[in-house]
Amino acid sequence: MAEAKTVAILGGGPVGLAAAAHVLEHGMEPVVLEAGPDAGHAVRQWSHVRMFSPWEYNIDKAAERLLATVGWNAPSGSEYPTGGELVAQYLEPLATRTPLRDRIRTNSLVTSVGRVGFDKVKTRGREAAPFEVRYENGKGPESLRADAVIDATGTWLAPNPAGADGLMAMGERRVQDRLAYGMPDVLGRDRGRYAGRTAAVLGAGHSAIGTLIDLSRLKDEVPTTEFVWLLRSDTPEKSFGGGANDKLSARGELGAAFAALVASGKVKVETGFRVSRLDRAGQRLRVVSAAACCERTVTVDELVVATGFRPELDFLREVRLSLDPALECPPALAPLIDPNEHSCGTVRPHGARELAQPEPGFYFAGMKSYGRAPTFLMLTGYEQVRSIVAEIAGDHEAARKVELVLPETGVCSGPGPQLAQPDDVGTAAASGGCCAPAPHKAAKGGACCG
Ligand SMILES: Cc1cc2nc3c(=O)[nH]c(=O)nc-3n(C[C@H](O)[C@H](O)[C@H](O)COP(=O)(O)OP(=O)(O)OC[C@H]3O[C@@H](n4cnc5c(N)ncnc54)[C@H](O)[C@@H]3O)c2cc1C
Repeated sequence: MAEAKTVAILGGGPVGLAAAAHVLEHGMEPVVLEAGPDAGHAVRQWSHVRMFSPWEYNIDKAAERLLATVGWNAPSGSEYPTGGELVAQYLEPLATRTPLRDRIRTNSLVTSVGRVGFDKVKTRGREAAPFEVRYENGKGPESLRADAVIDATGTWLAPNPAGADGLMAMGERRVQDRLAYGMPDVLGRDRGRYAGRTAAVLGAGHSAIGTLIDLSRLKDEVPTTEFVWLLRSDTPEKSFGGGANDKLSARGELGAAFAALVASGKVKVETGFRVSRLDRAGQRLRVVSAAACCERTVTVDELVVATGFRPELDFLREVRLSLDPALECPPALAPLIDPNEHSCGTVRPHGARELAQPEPGFYFAGMKSYGRAPTFLMLTGYEQVRSIVAEIAGDHEAARKVELVLPETGVCSGPGPQLAQPDDVGTAAASGGCCAPAPHKAAKGGACCG
């Protein structure tokens, strides 16, 4: 009998673990390499955040089947977990109580990926060579050989900088002690940094508005707390979301609650604020926005940079990649998730075919597969890895049959994604998504976005 294929899964987040469960189900051997001390390391950093998708959207089917074999008590599908509850009630049992336990290597930071005996330039016979994955675990360099690689390392560890042009703001590196990237735990772990002090929050997405709502709660408890919202765009309304039209009601409510907070005047808003420089002003921080006409300055104690995330690609230098030049995601996915075109999380079902790279056997999955696009949902990642793993296992038909029905956001800023191939129209319409075209319509118009 031929040996079972080994699949290296980079990253032990929700999507990496789901991939591992699918690999096991197909009779192959998964090895998960996770940089953090535990699986779900990135989610643990936002454990205080209440998720806007309920449990029914957060659990992968193969993972659920694996957990069922060890007497797992599934949480109620309609409830909304925090990141911490997602870890405690789902990721932790999956990683420590199922057969995945022996297939996860924690404290293992992947540093490079290549093909044994082949540098990037060498072609003939390349696809038959195993992958070599190098990683560091504090005991010296380690190496793993694998038949296929799924990169599910997410983007949490590579936040976007404060600078409005995508570069670090001048001086940003020198004032790191005054900055928090992502979503600090303002009411809990990081309370001491913000209570009774002045903070600025930079960004327009869910992380920014969640942090601003938490700061307003902190101000209710500690009235000397002050905060200001720094927004690059001139239209704060764009951050308010779909309200009652959002099928993920918790996400709609978050936007609506924030809109009310802004309307009440409790949130000071600086629109059109494009950070160019960060300077120290004694013990404080001066945040500077330089436009052609004039310079504006806000002086605060702390700056929360919630400007999104980007994929880390350096360790893939020896892998043959093809990425969208703007979003840094697989090219076939780009038109479906481009925030210039549409802002909702609805995406046409996609799988191995769209996620494949010129390097045979190498795939992006999960948050990282979206590159710089901000609208990824876990459920999308679970369908991605189901399809990818079926493809690796040689079940091409199952790989091709992608099915995904995502909840709509109720708003979409653009005309909706253009379809990559004419034969995709049927599938897209069947998904019934916000930006899916109506049946038999050409790619242009959308069910809600046209
Ligand atoms: C605050 C917040 C709230 C969110 N809420 C929702 C929600 O309600 N519903 C929803 O569907 N989605 C939500 N998302 C989006 C998304 O579903 C989550 O980010 C989800 O965790 C993505 O899963 P992932 O496995 O792709 O990536 P991650 O969870 O980021 O996991 C990637 C893992 O890879 C590890 N890693 C990184 N680099 C390396 C390396 N070089 N070597 C080895 N390991 C590495 C990391 O430590 C991490 O554990 C939210 C995201 C954020 C940030």
